[in-house]
Amino acid sequence: MAIRKVARLGHPVLRKRAALVVNGRIGSPEINQLVQDMVETMFEYDGRGLAAPQVHESLRIVVMLWEHEKTEKKPSLLCLINPVIKPITKAMSSYWEGCLSVPGMRGKVTRPNQISLSASGIQGEKIQMDVSGFDATVIQHECDHLDGILYVDRIKDMKDFAYTDEYERYTLPGDPDSEGADE
Ligand code: ZN
Repeated sequence: MAIRKVARLGHPVLRKRAALVVNGRIGSPEINQLVQDMVETMFEYDGRGLAAPQVHESLRIVVMLWEHEKTEKKPSLLCLINPVIKPITKAMSSYWEGCLSVPGMRGKVTRPNQISLSASGIQGEKIQMDVSGFDATVIQHECDHLDGILYVDRIKDMKDFAYTDEYERYTLPGDPDSEGADE
């Protein structure tokens, strides 16, 4: 296992469309190693999620932690290979998002509140579920990384973009959309 260097805003790998992981590589030692390294890197930097392009691997792989919807069906640590998501509601939610590739910042982003997710798991097992709330936001944020999109691209009003410590000082108290995490 190894902690990998995280690509930061401005590095071209974050703006590339990541490649599908071909079937034969799912479950291979090199992909398993990458996923392990991504998990270790996510924990090291206290993130809620991490996409492979953030560690300079342009592949469609995401790791994330569930927070809100822990059930027996949903493990607390999830690896998604080749995830495909689709909004299943017109309802939108706004959260203050952060990103390990844009360290020290938070921005308010509005996204569909509920999505359907299908993906392969670490051993190629099929994952299919509906996800709502902040977990849905984390998955959408991570899947954006696979298409070269960063959350800063989705901030509608740049007044809703702040340094994390100033955000915590001035915005967090009493803000209904105050939930945030580095993803
Ligand atoms: Zn991110």
